[in-house]
Amino acid sequence: MNFRGYFSILFIVTILCSYPLSANAEEKEENIYDKRMALYKKTEAITEVPWYYIAAVDQYERQIYKDIEEDQVISIRIPPEIWYGAGNTSMDINSIGIFNGKGKDGNGDHRADPNNGEDALYTMASIIKEYGHSEEDFKIALWNYYKRDLTVQTIKNTALVFKKFNHINLTDRDFPVAINYNYSYRNTWGDRRGFGGNRIHEGTDIFAGYGTPVHSTTYGVVELKGWNLYGGWRIGIRDIFNIYHYYAHLSGYEDNIKVGQIVKPGDVLGSVGSTGYGPPGTSGKFPPHLHYGMYKDNGYSEWSFDPYPYLRKWERMAKNKN
Ligand SMILES: [Zn+2]
Repeated sequence: MNFRGYFSILFIVTILCSYPLSANAEEKEENIYDKRMALYKKTEAITEVPWYYIAAVDQYERQIYKDIEEDQVISIRIPPEIWYGAGNTSMDINSIGIFNGKGKDGNGDHRADPNNGEDALYTMASIIKEYGHSEEDFKIALWNYYKRDLTVQTIKNTALVFKKFNHINLTDRDFPVAINYNYSYRNTWGDRRGFGGNRIHEGTDIFAGYGTPVHSTTYGVVELKGWNLYGGWRIGIRDIFNIYHYYAHLSGYEDNIKVGQIVKPGDVLGSVGSTGYGPPGTSGKFPPHLHYGMYKDNGYSEWSFDPYPYLRKWERMAKNKN
């Protein structure tokens, strides 16, 4: 066989082996978002609770349990004392009414099964509905259910993002500094730093010139903006995966950026600077760079994790788009 023949066969084999697999994986991913959306819309139709409220609660709960399967459609888990009613230890669906349990049948099989996604969605929407339909009512419902400020804030923000983009499949990402500018970074996770005592470096420093645009890496909502002794001019964005993204030492903010604003990957937040380590406005105590940190919330506590592997991935994604 000549070279050309060999490569033709190799080419065909490659197509045969890779195409059906990748197409399936993509189709599967499309499917789960479509399945979820169909159930959210169905629940909205029967309860009049906006689909994006229901979707945001489900999205939040998906992030806090460790044993969620990748192809699991709905993740809401309603505690037994709420489902079956306080003091009802029988776990018997026929006794839910007697104990004022909230468990409901959402899929029409006449069983209020807490392990059935549609039943859990319908029950959750019914609990929310008890409080009313406004954004304020929704916040009160969330507070009474979860009794945690950060949880209420996260779910409310996720609902706003879903509403604005009218979809739940929001997996796009961007690198936090404009990739057509000069920049450099390496893995500095856990490095010791001098200023402010024995603090461990919780993030990655991306060195770039003054004025280099800083981009939002994700879909999310601006949760915090302003001066901090160590961070200088900084901004914090909470995304739809219970992750808080922290951008520090900015020289300034983009004009229209404010707390509560919904952002998407690539939106300009401000520009690289060297602010911090002093009273408001202090600048130039170190070379200009963006400090980028990521913090995950599991419904009980929030902790920082290493953003470096994600930055590498988002950098590749950004370069592939250009
Ligand atoms: Zn840093």
